[in-house]
Amino acid sequence: MAKAKLSESLLNFEVWQAGAMDQQWPSSLFDVGCTACPRLAEFHESNRKLLPGHFNAPVPPFGDVNAELLIVGLAPGLNGANRTGRPFTGDFCGELLYSTLNKFGFANRPVSVAVGDGFALSNARVSNAVKCVPPQNKPLPSEITICNSFLTNEFALHPPKAVLALGLVAHQAVLKSAGQRQSAFKFGHAAQHDLGKFRLFDSYHVSRYNTQTGRLTTPMFERVLSDIQEFLKA
Ligand code: SF4
Repeated sequence: MAKAKLSESLLNFEVWQAGAMDQQWPSSLFDVGCTACPRLAEFHESNRKLLPGHFNAPVPPFGDVNAELLIVGLAPGLNGANRTGRPFTGDFCGELLYSTLNKFGFANRPVSVAVGDGFALSNARVSNAVKCVPPQNKPLPSEITICNSFLTNEFALHPPKAVLALGLVAHQAVLKSAGQRQSAFKFGHAAQHDLGKFRLFDSYHVSRYNTQTGRLTTPMFERVLSDIQEFLKA
């Protein structure tokens, strides 16, 4: 991944952030100093001044390196993953996700609090279609495309048997990483798509908006995890 020239302060910051992560990943799969998306790199830069206690860098995947289940979200939330440095951790988004993963045996606890809290995933890993927090939670199409190379490499280095896409953007990013035509596989909650090397399961995103409006309920999300569990046990 091409990287813009890093300032000295950013280089120091990069070293600090690498030590503040749950686990290390090969640079082809994740780069904590990546600045390939100028708008997102600038957003990080300004947030380092406005929110100095936040992680404020690309957020790495989290979980079992050899997992059969890969969960793909959209992007870090400003005061969630972008604050703690772990996907779906620190804000409302992770509550339904991790409590359900715990219920189905993929997590050792129902709540993920922060890096170093002892929370762990088993046979599951969480990653994002876009590794950097976007303004207003909305990545640009170009940013999704640029960041897709990391996701593609994650599929190649740590191939899953099942992939859970949280929302349409994640669904499209997974199809792109798998080299599949977008029009051949329509997104739908609880839909399943056989992509050859793995099966793709869709769910509405576990966002606060979706859960508070009832678009995604706990039984709806548990049904998808139940389908995945059944598939992996077959
Ligand atoms: S979104 Fe991905 S490609 Fe873009 S700067 Fe962040 S890590 Fe790099």
